[in-house]
This record gives sequence, C-alpha cells and structure tokens, in this order.
Amino acid sequence: MARDDEGKTVMTNNAAMAAFRASLHGELIEPGDAGYDAARKVYNAMIERRPRLIARCADVADVMAAVKFGREQKLLVAIRGGGHNAGGLGVCDDGLVIDLSRMNYVRVDPKKKTVQVGGGALWRDVDHATHAFGMAVPSGIISTTGVAGLTLGGGLGYLARRYGLTIDNLLAVEMVLADGRFVTASAKENSDLFWAVRGGGGNFGVVTSFLFKGQPVHTVYGGPMLWPLEDAAEMMRWYRDFISKAPDDVYGFFAFHTIPPAAPFPANFHFKKMCGIVWCYTGPMKKAEKIFKPIRKFKAPAVDLAGPIAHPALQSLFDGLYPPGMQWYWKADFVRTLPDEAIAQHVKNAATLPTLQATMHLYPINGAAGRVKRGATAWWHRDANWTEVIVGVDPDPAKKEEISAWAKEYWNALHPYSSGGAYVNFMMEEGEERIRATYGKNYKRLAKIKKRYDPGNLFRVNQNIRPK
Ligand SMILES: Cc1cc2nc3c(=O)[nH]c(=O)nc-3n(C[C@H](O)[C@H](O)[C@H](O)COP(=O)(O)OP(=O)(O)OC[C@H]3O[C@@H](n4cnc5c(N)ncnc54)[C@H](O)[C@@H]3O)c2cc1C
Repeated sequence: MARDDEGKTVMTNNAAMAAFRASLHGELIEPGDAGYDAARKVYNAMIERRPRLIARCADVADVMAAVKFGREQKLLVAIRGGGHNAGGLGVCDDGLVIDLSRMNYVRVDPKKKTVQVGGGALWRDVDHATHAFGMAVPSGIISTTGVAGLTLGGGLGYLARRYGLTIDNLLAVEMVLADGRFVTASAKENSDLFWAVRGGGGNFGVVTSFLFKGQPVHTVYGGPMLWPLEDAAEMMRWYRDFISKAPDDVYGFFAFHTIPPAAPFPANFHFKKMCGIVWCYTGPMKKAEKIFKPIRKFKAPAVDLAGPIAHPALQSLFDGLYPPGMQWYWKADFVRTLPDEAIAQHVKNAATLPTLQATMHLYPINGAAGRVKRGATAWWHRDANWTEVIVGVDPDPAKKEEISAWAKEYWNALHPYSSGGAYVNFMMEEGEERIRATYGKNYKRLAKIKKRYDPGNLFRVNQNIRPK
C-alpha cells in the first residue's frame, strides 16, 4: 500500500512494480525483506519511518526510473543522500525512498583542481580522496554526513571563513528533474536552477553528482581548547570580539560540552561541563604558534589539544562521540550579534547540559562566507555572523522528552537575540513561516523556480518551498 497526493491509501500497480524492479541495476527493498529495517533507518533514531519501497540506485538510469515510478504511481517521494538530516528528511512513511548511498564515488582532477562526487557520497569519502592531492572541499565538522544534503542546504564548517560555504565552492550539479529529464546546472547552463540548488535543499530534483572546486588544504592547525564553565562568560566575550576581526585563515567555533570519559581528555575533567573553542587554522604552519599565542595568553586553556593535524583527521574528530542511532532534538537560529545579555543566557543554559552528547555550537559564517552577496545564491542570511545550533542528544529513547525540553528551553532563551530564520540543515519540522524567514527575500524567486522545475511538488520531503 502507498499514499497518494491527498494522503489516501492506494495500491501500487503490480505490473508497473515488476517493470520497475526489473529495470533497476540497484536493489528495490520492501517491508519484510531482510535488509528493510537497516535500509529505512536514518542517523537520528528519533525518526522512525516505514517507507513502502526503498530504491537503492546504482546509477543515473536507476534514479530516472525511480523518479518516473514515483511520479506515475503518485507516491510520496523522499531522497536520501547520507541520511543525516536533523528532521530525518531522507526517509518517509508509506512512500518511495530514492536512496543514493551506492553512488558514492569521488574523482579528483588534480590539473583542473576540481572534485566530482556522486550524489550519495559521505564527506569522509571526499576528505579521503582529496587529501591525497593536497586538497579539500569546504564541508562541515563531522565526516559521516552526506555530501548531498549538506551541500544543497548550504554547508558550513571549518573552512567557511577561508573559502566560504560549501555552495560557494560548487561549480555544477547533474540532476534528474521531476519530469524525468537529466540536466546539468551551472553558471552557464540552467543558471536559475543552479542558483536555487545552492541553499534551496532537495526541492528541485535528485542530484546525481556534484562538481566542486578543490581548495589547497592539507595539514591544518586545529582541535579543541577547553576552559572551565566558570570562565565561560569571559571566554565567550573574548571569542566574540576575536572572531569578528580574525583573519580569514583562522576559524574557531564556540561550544559547550560535557567532557567524555576517554582519552585524550585528562581524567580530572571527565564528565565536567566545559566551554571550548574548536580551531582550524589554514595559514602557513610556521605562523601557527604565533597566531595562537595571544589566545593561550589571554586565559590558558585547562585542556589544550590544538596542534598540527591532517584535515581529514580534524573532520572526523567528533565522529566517535556521535555515532548513528542516537536520539537527536535540534533547534537553531542565525545570529548577527552576541550581546553580553545573550552570553549570560548561554552560560546559564549550558550549566544544565542534560547528557554527555547534548551541546551548543556557534559556527562562525563571517569571513569569506559572509562576503558573498545575498542574492548570489539561495542562502539569504549572509549578514549573520554565526549559525547557532542547540542539540539535545542521547542514546536512550527514554530520554527523548527530557533532551527535547532542554533544547527548546535553551533556544527560547536565546531566540530573542537571533536575526531571524535558521540554517535549513539544522531544522526539524518547524513550518512554512520559519522556512520563509530562512530564505528572506530569496523565497519568492525560489518558489518561482520550484514551479518551473517541480510544479506538482513531487519533491516535498524537505524544508519545502511551495511552487508559486
Ligand atoms: C552529527 C551531525 C553533524 C552535522 N554537522 C554539520 C556541519 O558541520 N555543517 C553543516 O552544514 N551541516 C551539518 N550537519 C547537518 C547536515 O548538513 C544535514 O543533516 C544534511 O541534511 C545531511 O545531509 P545528508 O545527505 O546526510 O542527509 P539526508 O537525510 O540523506 O537528506 C537530507 C535532505 O537532503 C535531500 N537530499 C539528500 N540527497 C539528495 C540528493 N542527492 N539530491 C537532492 N536532494 C537530496 C533530502 O531530500 C533531504 O531533504 C550535521 C548533521 C549531523 C547529524
């Protein structure tokens, strides 16, 4: 059984189903199949959905067949890249999941300094392949995240101040549209579509490959410095002023964490709530110690793990703390200024971090990311200086209510200091108004492009932009 556009249950046509199955080079997974439960799971275990069909595509032809089948059978269609999405938007109930996880190739062109990536690759695949050539593509701070979802939503991480958001390094995409056409979108071809996919999420079609600019990044100077919570207000004020003026090659995000009971953290700090800055300096290595000297002098960190580190190692530093299968409740905002009163609220709420993995991160998006014009891509909030994310996280489903309530309370206290809207990739399902606030004046143009490429809103399991 499946659900049609109005939410009514319909029977899929058996002959059409048989033809679809026969046409695939990949697998078609149904409830009852041995791999079904593993295939329907997404990273956030708070999301439990049971699709009618999972088409694990092997190539573009499979994706074209899946889009056609979904459209003709009037199925609800979800697209899955890495399955990491906050709100679990890589899976749906009853409908068809177009799963690209097998399409995870990465091809580096060292002459052109470009990187072609399959629509189902993870960032660890890209980091591994590019590092060998002394390159990196700006992404996030975790290596297990999918390239597709992160890129289409914008992409912010360690290299944002130096080289911009992930979308600022995107040269072209190949995609299958709702009507089944396979197109390229770039500055020269289908430029309206190219504008929209740089921040507009999975609204416009299934991206089967990305072409990125590779940036010259190999060994960076990075890692966390931690201070006791008693120093948090002072450190946050210092950080605010420092990162606002820091050169582009210095990146640091501010965080509140409970220290894990494991190496390399000294035993006397295990389970302590602390504040920290996680650095990534991409300038000349011989200048690194000099850059970090005033930081260490201002207030010597209680734990100092910053030093030279291979870029892929920094990218995967948090992977062990955040394995798949935990409960996650996300709240986010864009932040332009960080007044002392907001800092006081942060410190107050950080003292109540409910679990080992619950956290607040403030990711800077000034520097190169902030200098791109608002209308240049779908990403509107170029004038925000930070993306704030508050996540209640725990392995135990019984803690679901507690971690959600904590994240909401923290977010409520800080929301009055935010600049409107939130990063789409950090939002759960928060309704149309929040999506409109996120895209600001770009929303109207996005809705028009949506109407041109997906008038029936086939691709609506996302932060949905309605065709208009
Ligand atoms: C632990 C953790 C850390 C994170 N850190 C960062 C970070 O540092 N920086 C950052 O920017 N984000 C970060 N994120 C957020 C991340 O960007 C989003 O979760 C993103 O949606 C993940 O992409 P995915 O492909 O894994 O997701 P999926 O769940 O597979 O998909 C997410 C959305 O993208 C769409 N989509 C997926 N693949 C395609 C495709 N091929 N074509 C068209 N649409 C597609 C889906 O329809 C869905 O709407 C983090 C998430 C987690 C869980």
